[in-house]
Amino acid sequence: MNVYRLDLNDVVQHPGRRVEYPIEVRLEREEAPPLAEPIRGVLVAESGGRILRLYGRFETTVWLECGRCLSYFQLPVAFEIHEEFPLVGTPAGLSAYGYAEVEDRDSFPVFEGNHLYVDDLLRQYLLLELPIAPVCKEDCKGLCPTCGQNLNEGACSCAPKAGHPAFEALARAWYSED
Ligand SMILES: [Zn+2]
Repeated sequence: MNVYRLDLNDVVQHPGRRVEYPIEVRLEREEAPPLAEPIRGVLVAESGGRILRLYGRFETTVWLECGRCLSYFQLPVAFEIHEEFPLVGTPAGLSAYGYAEVEDRDSFPVFEGNHLYVDDLLRQYLLLELPIAPVCKEDCKGLCPTCGQNLNEGACSCAPKAGHPAFEALARAWYSED
């Protein structure tokens, strides 16, 4: 398991401080879609004294399975994150004996003390960006229901099915016109 743990204590203890963290992570957990590219971007952490703000823009490319032809294809995904976490305690930057800590009451917490699990946070946002019914392209022809051939790669021998003789004759006339 590849855990990307970011220590934000310096920002948390210093109200007004703003730090940019260049991020490049791969998601290793089973529930994440396979990534063709790592998630890349810049995470900005900013302390307002009582609030820790996190924001940034990220990009990646994921592998998805087409719901029609069942082949895997790559989909570029870009997303922005905006998060605010309350801080409890007096920041050390304001009082010699102070210590502030992030309060993360989410049912899927991404903080442990003042350490942020960046991969968990980014995974939550990425999953929201993925299409519910992915298709490799708008006009994907899918699979032949009879033989299972991928019709994007050409027609199979069972399609088109033999139609009414009148239509067959019509089709023959149409195709022989030129
Ligand atoms: Zn497809």
